[in-house]
Amino acid sequence: MKRIVALVLCLCWWGWNGSPAAQPPPVHPNILFIMSDDHAAHAISAYGSRVNQTPHLDRLGREGVRLENCFAVNAICTPSRAAILTGKYSHINGVPVFNRFDGSQWTVAKALQAAGYHTGVIGKWHLQSDPTGFDYWNILVGQGLYFDPVFIEMGERKKHSGYATELITDFALEFLEQRPTDRPFFLMLHHKAPHRAWQPHPKYAHQFDAVDLPEPETFNDDYATRADAARAAIMRVSRDLTRNDLKLSPPPGLKGEALAAWRRGTDSELEVVTDGYTNRLTGAALKKWKYQRYLKDYLACIASVDESVGRVLDYLDQTGLVTNTIVIYTSDQGFFLGDHDWFDKRFMYEESIRMPFLIRYPPELPAGRVIEPMVLNVDFAPLFLDFAGVPVPAEVQGRSFRPLLSGLPPADWRRSWYYRYYHYPNEHGVEPHYGVRTERYKLIYFHRLEQWELFDLLTDPHELRNVYSDPQNARLVADLQAELTRLRQELGDRNQYADLK
Ligand code: CA
Repeated sequence: MKRIVALVLCLCWWGWNGSPAAQPPPVHPNILFIMSDDHAAHAISAYGSRVNQTPHLDRLGREGVRLENCFAVNAICTPSRAAILTGKYSHINGVPVFNRFDGSQWTVAKALQAAGYHTGVIGKWHLQSDPTGFDYWNILVGQGLYFDPVFIEMGERKKHSGYATELITDFALEFLEQRPTDRPFFLMLHHKAPHRAWQPHPKYAHQFDAVDLPEPETFNDDYATRADAARAAIMRVSRDLTRNDLKLSPPPGLKGEALAAWRRGTDSELEVVTDGYTNRLTGAALKKWKYQRYLKDYLACIASVDESVGRVLDYLDQTGLVTNTIVIYTSDQGFFLGDHDWFDKRFMYEESIRMPFLIRYPPELPAGRVIEPMVLNVDFAPLFLDFAGVPVPAEVQGRSFRPLLSGLPPADWRRSWYYRYYHYPNEHGVEPHYGVRTERYKLIYFHRLEQWELFDLLTDPHELRNVYSDPQNARLVADLQAELTRLRQELGDRNQYADLK
């Protein structure tokens, strides 16, 4: 019934806008899911980026729907991928850190394959076990390399010449070209970029040479008022970027482990060429230089991802697939772009948990709509099944947000959600934590430290003022703690991985 109402409203919408009467959406649309790795929403111009332009991603946003509040429930690569495949939280799908994914469990790919979809995954996989539920797979080994990477194609290793982002795009277009045309397809096109160590294609490597990128408002965050976790984290632009990250040249003659150790080194003083002169930089000047060096490479990697999206959209145009294909662009989680003096992710802070999410499907979704309600990565699997007309198994924890996309948010849509990060100590030393986010507030508990943080996202969107200990917030804290407990019980988090190292 809801579907019929949505369809009628959709047809009315087209009618009101004077467009030709839309065809009813096809029953089994193709699903093209494009996901990059560590691409923060604030490095997409459709999301108001201050540092780069992404014309092809912007086109997707212009022609489709943009989610303003899409979040990862555990903001790190492998766990987010497992959450997307299973529609379940880390403590249920067995991947709280970089665990091996148990491919015998239910996944959305298996469900779509069983429903007659031709399924494929190409590019970054990073779940250790071989993909299951895919008719075709061609994945990078582990994190994969930017240049001349080795892929595993249906179990067979093969080294390819070229740049990872371009190769992944080539393989995806081949998949589309060679697919059986009597069945719908589900393709997961997963880029490695713009993951560390941010190695751009030569054609974009100097794109930002003449640019002085603006620094984020929180660049000089001193972590005052915060839990000890912020100070303890090892991901500062000013201190923790390695010589490898900064693309510094090693002394001649270094080889093997000695070279690797040199590359891992960090510097509090550097001699670099700025404005045509060699200068010795320290302190604030060096921090600024490192920020520019880091972010320019990161953004140049994104230029290739944007170009890839353009190639794929052109292919859909040329082949007429545009009318019956759902196209999605997202990233496995966000990233700190010098925000709080950090690179990397992991924390429950906004820059890290926020995923870009653009979706285009002309028969059903209006162009240019922006959606505010909170959507999670565990909702993706139910969304795909909803569009494919496949029932969602009861044990799936996410919920389809198709009604939101159609402008009909259910009255009981979530007003709060649960986050949990486990991976400690790892090289970044981010304290494990869990918490609850509502539309306005965020409560975080660093359980090893037994320290809390509370942020009012309305008055403090950059999360600089922890107001947990403010006496006037006592009632608010109690309410949020009760909600946190309720969510943990509802989701079955019984500290299954509390002692994880
Ligand atoms: Ca990632």
